[in-house]
Amino acid sequence: MIWVCTRCGYEVESDKRPDLCAMCYAAMHHMVPKKEKTEQKQDEKGEE
Ligand SMILES: [Zn+2]
Repeated sequence: MIWVCTRCGYEVESDKRPDLCAMCYAAMHHMVPKKEKTEQKQDEKGEE
């Protein structure tokens, strides 16, 4: 699964929650699971 740092936005793939963010060294509770929805931006279509 993919974890996202809520402080710097760094993403890391790991089976379990990382102890630290490798980018900003935020503690593990700043790492949250990334939503794996395939939803994409729908605002890009400029239908008239
Ligand atoms: Zn970070």
